[in-house]
Amino acid sequence: MTKPVARPEIFSVASYVGGESKLAGFENPTKLSSNEGAFGPPPGAIKVMAQAAATMHRYPDGGSTKLREAIGAKFGLDPARIVCGNGSDELLSLLIQSYGGPGTELIMSEHGFAIYEIAGKLAGCTVLKAPETSLTTDVDAILFLVTPATRMVFIANPNNPTGTALPQSEVERLRDSLPPHVLLVLDAAYAEYVERADYDAGVKLVDAGENTVMTRTFSKIFGMGGARLGWCYAPAAIVDVLNRVRPPFPINNFAAAAGIAALAEPSWLETSRAHNSTERRRLTERLTQSGLKVIPSEANFVLVDFVTVERASAADAYLRQRGIIVRQVKSYGLPHCLRITIGTSEECSRVAEHLTEFCHG
Ligand SMILES: *Cc1c(COP(=O)(O)O)cnc(C)c1O
Repeated sequence: MTKPVARPEIFSVASYVGGESKLAGFENPTKLSSNEGAFGPPPGAIKVMAQAAATMHRYPDGGSTKLREAIGAKFGLDPARIVCGNGSDELLSLLIQSYGGPGTELIMSEHGFAIYEIAGKLAGCTVLKAPETSLTTDVDAILFLVTPATRMVFIANPNNPTGTALPQSEVERLRDSLPPHVLLVLDAAYAEYVERADYDAGVKLVDAGENTVMTRTFSKIFGMGGARLGWCYAPAAIVDVLNRVRPPFPINNFAAAAGIAALAEPSWLETSRAHNSTERRRLTERLTQSGLKVIPSEANFVLVDFVTVERASAADAYLRQRGIIVRQVKSYGLPHCLRITIGTSEECSRVAEHLTEFCHG
């Protein structure tokens, strides 16, 4: 060898490509490609971030005590069972490094969130994908893949990029049917947007045993993706493991302050959720009336099925020419689809109008 050589499994990983944000010829394109929340950051979060600048010579509290207490108070959870991460992505990776590794198998769903596969392969796990039914996680297909080597199952509920969610009864059936030593990770990045009645973000199953973790994020409904702030709620033994392997200071002073302020922002959650429900319904109806197939969504985006790859590409190009960026989902095995984030009412109207023109033109 004449130069450094990375571990071979790294080359089985395709790097994560986020939603695009730049569009040639448009200074301020309409960015509906990353599910960032419709309203920008909470005003209170912006304010405390600026204030935190004066004390940035101080190291953060590595255990994020105040932030965990604020999360616990907001969601009615024991702060000792919460771990914060530099985005929930970091917590997903730490869980995989801690409970996966070479010789183990990780199961995710066919169109599940990309990070499970990237982090799983990097950790040396064999990543298995269970087929979906109607673009929805299929519990039986997951159970069919379980072997003695299975250590972890990852479900995004609702899932990105499909927007579909499993009812709580199905999540419970999955948990009951998995061997007790298999860790079930419920990624609830979009929990706040769910409308269906039979839904629990994961708290019930975390509380019911020692083998389920729920992850959450400030990146979506709280509009703080750029601050990198996520958290998980886990059984005590798993919290202990995560606290051993996490970086010493995962949450910087700015993100911690902003997170606490975001949780305290009056009616932020309620307003955002109501807006999303209204606009998601309106966008779904308008696109459906234009003859497009929209996958029923429980999140802050909709997946549109254009049937053919050519038509999806043409629609994408049509929107780009008009200053609108949506998300291609080829890397998720859905090259005939586009994912559209629910933005402001005006942004939703604009994308609906242009796609209607596209369909009629
Ligand atoms: C956006 C997203 C996350 C990542 O959240 P961060 O906290 O920003 O790392 C996790 N899971 C799913 C399904 C997502 O869509």
